[in-house]
Amino acid sequence: MGKAVIAIHGGAGAITRALLNPEQEKRYIDALSSIVEKGQQMLESGESALDVVTEAVRLLEECPLFNAGIGAVFTRDETHELDACVMDGNTLKAGAVAGVSRLRNPILAARLVMEQSPHVLLVGKGAEQFAFAQGVEPVSPDTFSTPERLQQLLDARAGGVTQLDHAAPLDERAKMGTVGAVALDKEGNLAAATSTGGMTNKLPGRVGDSPLPGAGCYANNASAAVSCTGTGEVFIRTLAAYDIAALMDYGNLSLAEACERVVMEKLPALGGSGGLIAVDREGNVALPFNSEGMYRAWGYAGDAPTTGIYRE
Ligand code: ASP
Repeated sequence: MGKAVIAIHGGAGAITRALLNPEQEKRYIDALSSIVEKGQQMLESGESALDVVTEAVRLLEECPLFNAGIGAVFTRDETHELDACVMDGNTLKAGAVAGVSRLRNPILAARLVMEQSPHVLLVGKGAEQFAFAQGVEPVSPDTFSTPERLQQLLDARAGGVTQLDHAAPLDERAKMGTVGAVALDKEGNLAAATSTGGMTNKLPGRVGDSPLPGAGCYANNASAAVSCTGTGEVFIRTLAAYDIAALMDYGNLSLAEACERVVMEKLPALGGSGGLIAVDREGNVALPFNSEGMYRAWGYAGDAPTTGIYRE
């Protein structure tokens, strides 16, 4: 069994040195390190991978820098529709919500779906009603709005960036900041969690890969825990997260080989850009991406964390 470890991401995309000034860069690095350190401490004190990824993603949802929870992107209609998923590699149980706008922490609602309902995925009003019935306090949808995200929508509109229009390619700028976490705990259990506001200017009702087990989130103690970020439609069509586990399970590929195949070959072949974070049962960590950058951090329990944004 490997050493307990956590990896987190805050989204992938056209993130270059030119995009961020030193102050912005520091804000991202500080946020990523403080959240990954919290996860490392939890693992060190023996908490489960499931609790660690849930808490890491909750903290990322609370951070306005990332496109999940507070700071989520806007739909075409200037609304927010949030998606999240959590999966337990020990039991293969999963819970998810999609298209919610009145739950402050979609990842906690996903966890409730997993533990308190017979279902895996609840959407929209039904998901919200379920969470309220479980004692979750409703919030106003504008809780998630930030001026930066509104500006992104206005820019996307001005640039004619219409995702999901077959004539127009999905735009790199429209998808940045989805969050996720994967962990291996001291008991040898794996877990994964992913949360997002989706893509700027998306059509109302659009659901991406993030809340779909196997697409944007997957965990199985037999292979790996995976959380994805990128052009959701392609991650759905390739079942990217599950594909990592399947290549390891059926193809005997290592984690690194499986990641290389999926992120550098299979996704780009369909026009998919982005990346993922993954941990296997031996405690190997992979954080591959085929875009210019991916906000990321990882660390073993008891060690100092490592953070990164750009390719080099
Ligand atoms: N994969 C997310 C989605 O398609 C977007 C992202 O990762 O930034 O909803």
